[in-house]
Amino acid sequence: MVDLQGQYRKIKDKIDEAIVSVIHEGVFINGNEVKEFALELANYNSVKNVITCANGTDALQIAMMALDFKHGDEIIVPAFTYVATVEVISLLGLTPVFIDVLPGTFELDATQLKSKITSRTVCIVPVHLYGQCSNMEEILKVAKENNLRVIEDVAQALGSEYTFRSGLKQKAGTIGDIGTTSFFPSKNLGCYGDGGAIMTNDSELAQKIRMIANHGQKEKYIHEVVGVNSRLDTIQAAILRIKLSYLNEYNKARNSVAERYDKAFEGLTDILIPERATFSTHVFHQYTVKVKSGSRDELKKFLQSKNIPSMIYYPLPLHLQKAYRGYGYPEGSFPVSERLCEQVLSLPIHSEMKEDQQAFIIDNIFNFFNV
Ligand SMILES: *Cc1c(COP(=O)(O)O)cnc(C)c1O
Repeated sequence: MVDLQGQYRKIKDKIDEAIVSVIHEGVFINGNEVKEFALELANYNSVKNVITCANGTDALQIAMMALDFKHGDEIIVPAFTYVATVEVISLLGLTPVFIDVLPGTFELDATQLKSKITSRTVCIVPVHLYGQCSNMEEILKVAKENNLRVIEDVAQALGSEYTFRSGLKQKAGTIGDIGTTSFFPSKNLGCYGDGGAIMTNDSELAQKIRMIANHGQKEKYIHEVVGVNSRLDTIQAAILRIKLSYLNEYNKARNSVAERYDKAFEGLTDILIPERATFSTHVFHQYTVKVKSGSRDELKKFLQSKNIPSMIYYPLPLHLQKAYRGYGYPEGSFPVSERLCEQVLSLPIHSEMKEDQQAFIIDNIFNFFNV
């Protein structure tokens, strides 16, 4: 699905040097690279504050802790997303309120937001799934009208840009109150282990986030609130500084791959290509098609037999997972999410994909459908 080795080979000298330099300096925790990377990411995203942390799941949890939600408060979250988003809601004793997604762009269906709001609702968590922003203009409007917070889960969309009707452009993760992201190796900006970050333009909130991520202390051994221990290693920060300078290039390369897939599948009625959101650029963390004819699983097996990987993100919506059944959403509650789980297939896409590799994948998909 990705070619991290191929990507590494092109920047090997810089990466090796950066890693060795951290080892020589010996400041493995909170080294200078961590601060520099946070500043560079803030600059890249034009956001005032970036707080690094251990992974994207922690980033979500810390964001929710910083907003002082109370036990039983309700958080609106798409039923069709990666588990991390809802997991932290449950862990903090908050209540996930699931919402369905749009079949074309896979984002939460903002037209349903109002019907989900109760007196206990405190927050909306749009997940910018597969690499493009959700309908932030509408989400912000509903949030404002109802005094709700917005946490953007940007783990799959770092670098994508949203354009408001006014013409104002903002980077994913800097539009709501807080944005959270992950540097898991296969993300568009990935390190060589785990990593994550939290972004906000609210500097007071940023202080609180920084404190929570550091055992609830501003001053060593003085604990103001219950916190967690969540840090980005210096070595990972050093790697991320180098890779951040290539992020636009990587995202552009992913877009070229996506365009070639789009073009190829124009003539294939069994495959529905991913729709582009009107007001967002796409960074194609995933290129996810819908297989219409009910043959998704067979197609996946067929590709596997040709040594072509493909993935189902995600095979079961969250409200039907055993762990989250207790919230009481029966089958049929979110028909779009449930249908997508049967139709979606993500094809290999990455910054190193060669045209002949992609042609091989496309040819085999056509072979499968006998066209
Ligand atoms: C990857 C991902 C996360 C979690 O990131 P980790 O670093 O693996 O904890 C959260 N949300 C979404 C949408 C993701 O894709």
